[in-house]
Amino acid sequence: MADWKDNVENIVYPGRIKVPYKWYVGEVGSRFLTGLRDKKEIWGTKCPNCSKVYVPPVKNCGECFVLTDQWVKVEDTGTLESFTVVSYSHEMMPTKAPIIYGLIKLGGADGAIMHIIDDVKKEDLKVGMKLKAVFADKREGTILDIKHFSPV
Ligand SMILES: [Zn+2]
Repeated sequence: MADWKDNVENIVYPGRIKVPYKWYVGEVGSRFLTGLRDKKEIWGTKCPNCSKVYVPPVKNCGECFVLTDQWVKVEDTGTLESFTVVSYSHEMMPTKAPIIYGLIKLGGADGAIMHIIDDVKKEDLKVGMKLKAVFADKREGTILDIKHFSPV
């Protein structure tokens, strides 16, 4: 005798679950973010072997695989190395589109930090231009304590 379940189509709906969570940024990330929040200072870590200064800081040099336990305060101004304009909005983005994201090599750092660029028209952006960090009035220990970078 056939069961009624033998003739039922299995229907599956796609879904999405939002799961709130907390994530420890680590001791290196915590020191970096408290520097932004409490003193408006940008700190990196320096490799004792190759002297490369990482901003944002890392715990280990990616080239030498040694601890980068020396802290270096870098400048809040830097050079634009690359940029892109994002023309659509997404809930994960910090502000509505269009947003200009740039790679900024800060004075005293060897790598570039990716951040938002504002107070400039995209037509006026030039690789090599000088930019300065603009800190948020209310800082909470996130990368957005640097509100954005603006032309000097
Ligand atoms: Zn190194």
